[in-house]
Amino acid sequence: MGAKHVCFACRNAYNVPYGAVGPLKCPHCAGALTILPHRFRPPKKREDEKWNTAQYLVEQGFYYEHIFPVAEPTKHVAIPANYVPYPENLREAREFVQQYRAFAKKP
Ligand SMILES: [Zn+2]
Repeated sequence: MGAKHVCFACRNAYNVPYGAVGPLKCPHCAGALTILPHRFRPPKKREDEKWNTAQYLVEQGFYYEHIFPVAEPTKHVAIPANYVPYPENLREAREFVQQYRAFAKKP
C-alpha cells in the first residue's frame, strides 16, 4: 500500500510508500506532483478523456478519497462497501462535482 504521485502534464503516476514525502517534483518535467491515494488507477497515456476527468476532479477538490453519500461530511460514517465510484468522463464528472460538492477539499 502506498500513495501515487501523479504528474498530469506527463500523464505519469509514481508509486510511493506512505510517509515518503521527498521533493514533489516530476522526474521528467519537474512540475508539481499531485498526491493521490493508491486507489487512483492511472489511465493509459492515450486515454485523454480519463486523464482530463481525473485532473478536473482534482482541481475541483476531489482527491480520490472515499465519498459516502449517506454521511454528512461533518459526521463521517465509514461504510467501506458503500462509497461512490469516481467518474471516468467529464460529463459524469461535472454531475459528480455538483452532487458531492460538500465533500470537496478546499485548497
Ligand atoms: Zn511531468
